[in-house]
Amino acid sequence: MSFSAIAVTPEAGNDAAEALSVLNSVFGLPAFRGAQEKIVRHVTDGGNCLVLMPTGGGKSLCYQLPALLREGCGIVVSPLIALMRDQVAGLHEAGVRAAVLNSTLSFEEASAVETRLLAGDLDLLYVAPERLVTPRCLSLLGRAGIALFAIDEAHCVSQWGHDFRPEYIGLSVIAERFPDVPRIALTATADELTRQEIVDRLGLAGAPQFVASFDRPNIRYEIVDKQNAPAQLKTFITERHAGDAGIVYCLSRAKVEDIASALTKAGVEALPYHAGLDASVRARNQDRFINEDGVVIVATIAFGMGIDKPDVRFVAHLDLPKSIEAYYQETGRAGRDGKPSSAWMAYGLSDIVQHRRMIEESTGSEAFKRVSLGKLEALVGLAETTACRRTRLLGYFGETLKAVKCGNCDNCLSPPAVRDGRVIAQKLLSCAYRTGQRFGAMHLIDVLVGRMTERVQQFGHDKLSVFGIGRELNEKQWRAAMRQLVALGHLKPDSEAFGALKLTESARGVLKGETEVMLREETPGSRIRSNRAKSRRGDLAPASGGAGKAGDPGLLGALRAWRSQMARSRGVPAYVVLHDSTIDGIAAARPTSLNELRGIPGIGDKKLEHYGDELIALVRASRTGL
Ligand code: ADP
Ligand code: ZN
Repeated sequence: MSFSAIAVTPEAGNDAAEALSVLNSVFGLPAFRGAQEKIVRHVTDGGNCLVLMPTGGGKSLCYQLPALLREGCGIVVSPLIALMRDQVAGLHEAGVRAAVLNSTLSFEEASAVETRLLAGDLDLLYVAPERLVTPRCLSLLGRAGIALFAIDEAHCVSQWGHDFRPEYIGLSVIAERFPDVPRIALTATADELTRQEIVDRLGLAGAPQFVASFDRPNIRYEIVDKQNAPAQLKTFITERHAGDAGIVYCLSRAKVEDIASALTKAGVEALPYHAGLDASVRARNQDRFINEDGVVIVATIAFGMGIDKPDVRFVAHLDLPKSIEAYYQETGRAGRDGKPSSAWMAYGLSDIVQHRRMIEESTGSEAFKRVSLGKLEALVGLAETTACRRTRLLGYFGETLKAVKCGNCDNCLSPPAVRDGRVIAQKLLSCAYRTGQRFGAMHLIDVLVGRMTERVQQFGHDKLSVFGIGRELNEKQWRAAMRQLVALGHLKPDSEAFGALKLTESARGVLKGETEVMLREETPGSRIRSNRAKSRRGDLAPASGGAGKAGDPGLLGALRAWRSQMARSRGVPAYVVLHDSTIDGIAAARPTSLNELRGIPGIGDKKLEHYGDELIALVRASRTGL
């Protein structure tokens, strides 16, 4: 199908109806989401803009549709080759004339793409930034009809950001060389400084900024007390996300290997990914994660940037990320398709101690260390809060939720009991003080519960007034209390003294009884266990909508099997053939005619033409039990 037939110039008017009609016929989607419609209209009319939308918000359509609606080819600058490839594969499936221009092409292949561009035979062309800025490419673009420039992952221009790419700096040339072609910059990074840099470098001063809410309502946030992390993770996956695709983040390579093999032993399809692995092994594991159904990848944080997989059902952290920004970005890789997903983290006091040490021992400047410690503290605050996690998370980014309780985080679903923790806090702080502020959690607990260890004897701590004053709590409860006092800022791990807990300035108010301390009530049983009991009742039901959970289970299985086979034979990821939501839609609606099938979101004209008959045959077969 050629889109030149439906392409209209901005002057043709009636943009809105035209845009909706292309949304429907090409992408099979019934309606725009959020600001998409406004953005599409603005860019189609020739305007520049900056789009800030969270991952999964639907940024691609914001430039893909205007590219189809305007005369000429849309040029998309994208930093990641794998991402370009998958986007183009998806566009081909929808019948859009798309191509890439990057270093993976041979000279002949690149020439063929260039010829198509000049002949007006392309709707969208994905170009690597370092290629775009070459004189050769700029001259090529100068001779072609260009509908727009879309600069994806635009935060890569920010030198202060975490994904800075020097080749992005050169992109200022676009505004200089093609001032009359609309530019749309897109990013999922919300912070103000980055935004300003994008505006400066890409020449977007005065252009409107479309800022969506950064809430990801389909992600359930959950942070549990770390005890036996591998066992907790295993339980989380097998009880809540069996058969689902997910990412597990660990800090070290060794831990990645251990966890991957422990999960494999437990029957979970898990693969390791870290910088120490052979490049070919890494590539193979990443490909399997992207292309197959239900693979779990266990990775260091190096994994994930540019992973466009829409059906990642969970992201689990076995170690604390370094900031709320990092936590938001990493957990954001779950549920791009909008379906229920989990962000699960196990965290403990040792995480705080370890991170503080890493920061203190880093070679960064004092200012850098101070900022890093502040970011760590904000994250610990999120982990220890007894209030809604989502409210806290978005609040950090300056966004206020309408409701105080989101109803989809652990604290909203099973509110933790809080109690007056003044006496507990005083006992703990006194114990740290009397033992000279030189000991870590373990020893302080021994003293509090009156355990006669070698160390206690060696230092004569059994002679202290604090020895055995804390028998009312068990070890686990004391650990929880310590973490919360650290989060509240009354205690501070001293990284120079191997995690010794020291009193802060604010501890004085607590010791004097002037400062209120509310602590979460830790029952002797773990939070995991209580979550598990709840999950049976359905309050914390499996967040996933994996196989067999919607529609007819037999048909769903058949559709998934068909999709896997189709994906393999076409050499594209399964989600490029059909999204999970489309599969679920078919299983629920059981269409028996092409007309009915056309009504399922995700089925556009091309997919109907390619797959319609086979899909209907599957529905019919499952109905008649054949
Ligand atoms: P982003 O680039 O912002 O992370 P994508 O453009 O990849 O997000 O879109 C995320 C998911 O949302 C995709 O599965 C896409 O098909 C879906 N989507 C986008 N816009 C719509 C819409 N208007 N209606 C239904 N689904 C949509
Ligand atoms: Zn909540």
